[in-house]
Amino acid sequence: MKIKHHDITLKIDPKLGTLKAKDMMEVSGDEELRFYLGNRFDIISIKQGKKSLDWEVEEEGKLTTRYMVKDRDIKKDPVEINWKGNLSSFQGYRVSIIRGDLVELSGFCWWFPTIEPQSQFESFTYDLKVDLPGDWTIVTPGEIMGDGGKYRYSRKIEDIFLCASPILETFQKECCGVNLELHIPKDMIKFKEVLMDDFSSSIELCTKLFGPLKKGNGGIGIVSPRGKEGAECGFERDGLWVVGDLFTKYLIDNDWKVDSLPKSLSLHETIHGWFGIGVDFKEPWLAEAITQYLEVILTAMMYDEADIEKKYFDSYRERVEKHLAENDRPIKEYRFLDNMYTHWYLKGSWAFWDMEAAVGRDGLLELFSKIYQDYIGDTITHMEFRRISESCLDIEPDFIEYWFEDKGFEPVFR
Ligand SMILES: [Zn+2]
Repeated sequence: MKIKHHDITLKIDPKLGTLKAKDMMEVSGDEELRFYLGNRFDIISIKQGKKSLDWEVEEEGKLTTRYMVKDRDIKKDPVEINWKGNLSSFQGYRVSIIRGDLVELSGFCWWFPTIEPQSQFESFTYDLKVDLPGDWTIVTPGEIMGDGGKYRYSRKIEDIFLCASPILETFQKECCGVNLELHIPKDMIKFKEVLMDDFSSSIELCTKLFGPLKKGNGGIGIVSPRGKEGAECGFERDGLWVVGDLFTKYLIDNDWKVDSLPKSLSLHETIHGWFGIGVDFKEPWLAEAITQYLEVILTAMMYDEADIEKKYFDSYRERVEKHLAENDRPIKEYRFLDNMYTHWYLKGSWAFWDMEAAVGRDGLLELFSKIYQDYIGDTITHMEFRRISESCLDIEPDFIEYWFEDKGFEPVFR
């Protein structure tokens, strides 16, 4: 069973903190239709054409419930699911936040409806019509095909993300041929220049090293007004990235340092415009390992500070070793949400520091630039990455295998 397309209509009343939704799903396959919905929502009805369908609860999770639709006619019309619920409090995990004055939907309180909660990598197309007051700013991947409080998006995407709030202000700047858009909460307006400078420096550096950003692969940044209860990790989707306001304030207040190491707000997610979106990777751990490595190297260039990579390297070592002592598995065996930060990001980026020790930084940056230019718009597997690396650089043939498929922790070259 696969959901091929969603046609969703949302009606959100910020004052009452309520949401009403209708989702027309096009489904392929002849198995039962199953979908997930946040526990805060109730199903009103499920229909196929004029016929009402029954459903049953299959599993009640902490935040989401899995439903199964009965007696669907597999050859017939889309299935229409109507549901409603309240949005007035924070509920969710990581990026899924909904409040009365902010809607951030990565699946209506977990991921997208119907997506398995542990995955954010399913793909489908969607049309979305959102009914919101006219003074709200709404930011989402996809094309806006209407106005006046009605929005419509249609494109293939891993998951839908939408951030809407009456307290966002938008700033624009042209940089390296990209129209940068920065959306920040109104109470951060006094930092708009420093935030925009950080964003444009990231874009400039990546353009210089890897080539121009392809239109639609980046250029929109959002400082999301999540407040105290909101999760703080940043992420990218399609052409935009998001970071929470608390982390942004923390960086500004601490002179752009975390644990005394310099850090750019936008750099990591901006790099994904080149690696992760520009060139996509079949295995998400490889995209994160590359991006994390590049983030540190580019931070050293941006802040012109000596020994940054060594300091980051040392700060990672302790975390990685601690985790390895508890649970030592190859990087590729870690799933999404499975302590991926330590493995995909920290241990994964270490592989490239190790590689750098063998071939030099310039050689490695040239490899990434070549990969970007040769494979832009493609999705490559780690085996292809391995083949390209081995044909361009003088590295041990089993290097990638050692780091990502075996347990590989003792650095090979260092
Ligand atoms: Zn990332």
